[in-house]
Amino acid sequence: MLNLVLFGPPGAGKGTQSAKLVDTFNLVHLSTGDIFRYNIKHETELGKLAKSYIDKGELVPDEVTINMLKDELNKYPNAKGFIFDGFPRTVPQAQALDTLLAEKKTHICLMLSLDVPEDELTRRLLERGKVSGRSDDTDESIIRNRIRVYNEQTAVAAEFYDKQNKYKKIMGVGAIEDIFKRLADEVNKFLPASL
Ligand code: ADP
Repeated sequence: MLNLVLFGPPGAGKGTQSAKLVDTFNLVHLSTGDIFRYNIKHETELGKLAKSYIDKGELVPDEVTINMLKDELNKYPNAKGFIFDGFPRTVPQAQALDTLLAEKKTHICLMLSLDVPEDELTRRLLERGKVSGRSDDTDESIIRNRIRVYNEQTAVAAEFYDKQNKYKKIMGVGAIEDIFKRLADEVNKFLPASL
């Protein structure tokens, strides 16, 4: 299996690039942010809980997020591979993902981390907020909090994969197609080994 983590701060372009990677490499896309938003829209219990954190720019607690991810993984027993977008966001989530994948006799092949300067992130998120209707993208103080949470709690998850020699930083500024090519080049290096 080809299992990838697409990593990077809010606004780095994970959603945009995930969609392209999914098409090219025939992967199942698991975005914890998308799953939370689906639950918020349908007013489920999980959605109500998640909303109370997301509206402040905080992380949803690990236990809730990990259980949700586990349920999602189990929906795709025949997947050729997964792209994890927005997960793992903490070290305990990374550890839990390793365990879950080991139970399925597979593992993460590569973490691709999109590197984008903070000013550019804020600019992109405020732009997205104008059209997406995402309340967490319209308030600059919530955006700043998300970036702070990323720096304090999430960035360390990269070390978890770096120690396993699975971490690759990719420049996330420029044309969407150029960034995609940088990502796809890294994935292609892995393909023969993962099949
Ligand atoms: P972005 O990367 O632009 O912040 P996401 O759609 O990935 O957007 O996530 C939106 C929000 O959902 C996050 O700010 C956080 O509150 C919550 N969330 C998403 N994924 C996780 C996760 N793995 N752990 C905890 N909270 C999460």
